[in-house]
Amino acid sequence: MDRRRFLQGATIASGVALAAKGIAKAAPATTAAGMVPRVCSTWDFGVAANQAAWKVLAAGGRALDAVEQGARVPEADLRNHSVGRAGYPDRDGKVTLDASIMDENGNCGAVAAIEHIAHPISVARRVMERTPHVLLVGDGALQFAIEQGFPREELLTPESEKAWHEWLKTAKYKPVANSEVRSYNAGPGGTPGDASNHDTIGMLAIDAKGNLSGACTTSGMAWKLHGRVGDSPIIGAGLYVDNDVGGATSTGVGEEVIRNVGSFLVVELMRQGRSPEDACREAVERILRKKPNAKDLQVGFLAMDKKGNVGAWAIQKGFSYAVCDAAKQDALIPGKSSY
Ligand code: ASP
Repeated sequence: MDRRRFLQGATIASGVALAAKGIAKAAPATTAAGMVPRVCSTWDFGVAANQAAWKVLAAGGRALDAVEQGARVPEADLRNHSVGRAGYPDRDGKVTLDASIMDENGNCGAVAAIEHIAHPISVARRVMERTPHVLLVGDGALQFAIEQGFPREELLTPESEKAWHEWLKTAKYKPVANSEVRSYNAGPGGTPGDASNHDTIGMLAIDAKGNLSGACTTSGMAWKLHGRVGDSPIIGAGLYVDNDVGGATSTGVGEEVIRNVGSFLVVELMRQGRSPEDACREAVERILRKKPNAKDLQVGFLAMDKKGNVGAWAIQKGFSYAVCDAAKQDALIPGKSSY
């Protein structure tokens, strides 16, 4: 991803609505209510995910549908080893996936440690819409998914299996943070996702009615203990949306996010008047204050407020996020960081 695109994206991050340049003309740059439909998501693979979400927003669709459609893109991408079907497995060679979704009415659904289902985000939505529950885990989540008609599949790809065998040679578990912004769209020869053994897509969208929704989906930390669940399916940790205030999502070492109820914290800080970037920064710095050696790990927060302004902050350099609206379809922005 070249610097020019970063710089173009930075304008969007400040919340300034740029003139639409003929892209996705059907989409209103602003609505009668002054709302700017917009979607943002974590990491470089968020660029392609946003475009799928934007198709929904541009057609006047609901933010909830947009984030589900967007999250399904990296879930299906065989080049992506930290989300969905090609995610790296746990230490036992099992691919277990976590996902959550939240709508503008405070409804939410999630699945954790689900196996054999390529699109956990869509199962999370079914949990939200078709059960009285919020979170289904493991075999129960799989059973529900199959009852709902999702195909049972073998998710461990030959490439993931090879990487797992390689890891087994030392079998040392250590989260590796990205230290530089990757270029997922590097084209042939690029190996996106290999720079670290984790990363999640967290996505937030605001639609033309001014409604917010969010989605978060991941294969979690590669080589984790079987049964480990990260922050991504935990409402308030990996994802939180309050339609009166804004939404937040996270990526990085989920244990640190869970300990601090990170996404809920970011939304509450925005409620107190902080900008999305300031709120994300305070949440990161709270993690660091409580546990100074967390500086060697990566955690990043991404937030969108009720006006569609977007901001982010991470512990370390290397975090990036993608923003898409009527003015710009493929902005990838380097996240600011404490280190
Ligand atoms: N937050 C995810 C987890 O802990 C991983 C990541 O985003 O890097 O499962």
